[in-house]
Amino acid sequence: MLVVALAWAGTVSPADAGRDRARVLAAFYPLEWATDRVGDEHVDVTGLTPAGAEPHDLELTTDDRAAIEDADLLVVLSGGFQPAVEESAEQRDGPTLDVRRALSASQQRRAERDPHIWLDPLVMQEIVDAVARRLAAIDTQHAAAYDREATALIAELDELDGEFTSGLVDCERDLLVTAHEAFGWLTRRYGIRQQGVAGIDPEQEPKPQRLAELSDLVRDEGVTTIFTEARVSPKIAETLAAEAGGLRTAVLNPLESLSANERDRGEDYLSVMRTNLEKIRVALDCS
Ligand SMILES: [Zn+2]
Repeated sequence: MLVVALAWAGTVSPADAGRDRARVLAAFYPLEWATDRVGDEHVDVTGLTPAGAEPHDLELTTDDRAAIEDADLLVVLSGGFQPAVEESAEQRDGPTLDVRRALSASQQRRAERDPHIWLDPLVMQEIVDAVARRLAAIDTQHAAAYDREATALIAELDELDGEFTSGLVDCERDLLVTAHEAFGWLTRRYGIRQQGVAGIDPEQEPKPQRLAELSDLVRDEGVTTIFTEARVSPKIAETLAAEAGGLRTAVLNPLESLSANERDRGEDYLSVMRTNLEKIRVALDCS
């Protein structure tokens, strides 16, 4: 039992424990993607949030709790996004990377109010860097590989950031109306604004008064598109679009998870972000 406890505490590398690859459990898709890309062939990454499921306030099964206990490394986002995961992470003996701790103090506070940090590509770079450093710490043998993968991925995120910056610099409008307020980190990074039909948590149903306000706002601002999401019912957005004078609806993906279909098609964080950018550019009439 003592040996196992030491392995969990990260003092025994996965190789010493008789395994080829470190087993990492990531709380939800963007963390899973970053860890998988950085870990490459040396790490087995599993996502805790099932494909296509909504990660806000994720509830854990007994199997999930066992997986959390057993992982060589757990990657989570603290700050109230997934309280059950946070609580389980605190009880576990092994190492946990809390990606919120990779951010500046002011960003950490902001992440407590709005957890959707992964939608800012520059914050994703910080996450990638933190993942690489932590993987190197638990698996020193492959430290150089993690560093190399992270450097390449950070360059890809730089490119993505450049596309957002140039793609949103010259637009007719600057207001995104979204299904829930998932895009605050993205809109702030690129100088646009967001109003959500639902709040930070997609489960918060809007009050009739909020819909009336939004309806006035979209008319005043000349909004053309009400965005929906695959995992939030489009009914309210469709009602709003109709009431505001027959506006378009379109789907934005906040990347909280990827469906099995999206994975099968080879979609990933970068491809979905680029699709989102194209849809935002159409909605805001960007040149
Ligand atoms: Zn969300």
